[in-house]
Amino acid sequence: MEAHPAARNWEQFRQALRGRVTPVTWRTWLEGLEQQSVDGNVVRIVAPSEFHLRWVNEKYRPLIQEAVLVAYGPGAVVELDASDSPSFDPPLIDDDPEPEPLPRAATSHDPGEPHLVPKYSFENFVVGPSNRFAHAAALAIAEQPGGNYNPLFVYGGAGLGKTHLLHAIAQHCADLHPNLEICYLSSEEFFNGFIDGIRKKRMDEFKARYRSVDMLLLDDVQFFEGKEQILEEFFHTFNTLYEAGRQLVFSADRPPKSLSSLEDRIRSRFEWGLTTDIQPPDVETRLAILRKNAAFAPQEVPEPVLDFMANRVVDNIRELEGALTRVTAYAALTHQPINLEMAEDVLQDLGPAHATVPISPGRILAATAESFGLSITDLEGPSRRQPLARGRQVAMYLCRELTDLSLPKIGALFGGRDHTTVLHGVNTVAKAIKTDLTLFDRVTALLQSLRRT
Ligand code: ADP
Ligand code: MG
Repeated sequence: MEAHPAARNWEQFRQALRGRVTPVTWRTWLEGLEQQSVDGNVVRIVAPSEFHLRWVNEKYRPLIQEAVLVAYGPGAVVELDASDSPSFDPPLIDDDPEPEPLPRAATSHDPGEPHLVPKYSFENFVVGPSNRFAHAAALAIAEQPGGNYNPLFVYGGAGLGKTHLLHAIAQHCADLHPNLEICYLSSEEFFNGFIDGIRKKRMDEFKARYRSVDMLLLDDVQFFEGKEQILEEFFHTFNTLYEAGRQLVFSADRPPKSLSSLEDRIRSRFEWGLTTDIQPPDVETRLAILRKNAAFAPQEVPEPVLDFMANRVVDNIRELEGALTRVTAYAALTHQPINLEMAEDVLQDLGPAHATVPISPGRILAATAESFGLSITDLEGPSRRQPLARGRQVAMYLCRELTDLSLPKIGALFGGRDHTTVLHGVNTVAKAIKTDLTLFDRVTALLQSLRRT
């Protein structure tokens, strides 16, 4: 029996279209299109969601029209619409539910139990001209805290290794000097602890906690700008520790003199010791970092692919690592060897031309909500029903990938969730996109549309 002519045309249409785009574009945007009806010369095609529809309309409409002409004959006109019922591919059972928020006491960080990432060690820190000095200073301090370089102030742009270096100092120092009390925390956590202390009338506890440590590492002190309430407390913590010869280490996205809204007495203290910057890495350093990471990949990443990535992502090491992860995940999911063509395809959205404007969390929420057929209120709300919970986790993951927001800040966007919940969501998605091709495609689609518009 012969196939229905419309079905045959549809197959021809798909073939024509598929031959004109890259495999990733095909999988991400076009494979899910369906022919709804053929009415005279009008071919009605539906996209799986409003989100797909908008993107396809913007980017691929001329191609689709061409393919319709090829398959359905001259005079055929395309009409694009979105399917009424958004299709959900993620599993409906949450195999990895959000953790119950931990009681406050368990999430506040005792100086004795720093929450440090083992991967952020000196061994894993690739040294190059851009960070050589900062690295040397960090190592010296870990070996001899409270010595000549006090405080150490490290500054540089997002994703250049400040947090990595601070963790490395804390961990190496703890190895060398097991008796020292070392405390690493973000300035935001310090601030929250302070507010908590006020609220619970336990300021003495807060003061005692930080004024008795041997080494205090505070990440991202630009956070203190405009936080008048805490500056007095911070000033006293600084003085107490400094006078007792304890080591202080700070990081920020700017040099002290550019932290313009901080009082002079604080700004000048930042400069009492050693101030050093971290610059964007040169291409050799970027390659060395990629090689180091690629050694852990499940399959070989050819040198030209590493080269391509190193030239695509120039000023953010987090993005550089993200690029490698995406390509290796895609190769594993589609059971293909990694090659240059694939890398170019998967990383279409990266590069100097893109991501020049910062991406707002509002846009991330809107795009994710649209892609999952949810509302922004859903994402912010309390429900943990699927697919809502998965959509929310994807939005958290995208906020982490595309913005510099801290975990607590991201939590605040989602109805005031705890930072451990955000971390869990981000990790869940990072893991799931390595095994779930549908989710990989969906996340890729979101990354591409957010980075390009
Ligand atoms: P920042 O705190 O400056 O925004 P991070 O310390 O979070 O940056 O670094 C972002 C990512 O890049 C981390 O995964 C970190 O391990 C990695 N990274 C940064 N610098 C280096 C380096 N020199 N060698 C290896 N990995 C690095
Ligand atoms: Mg950081």
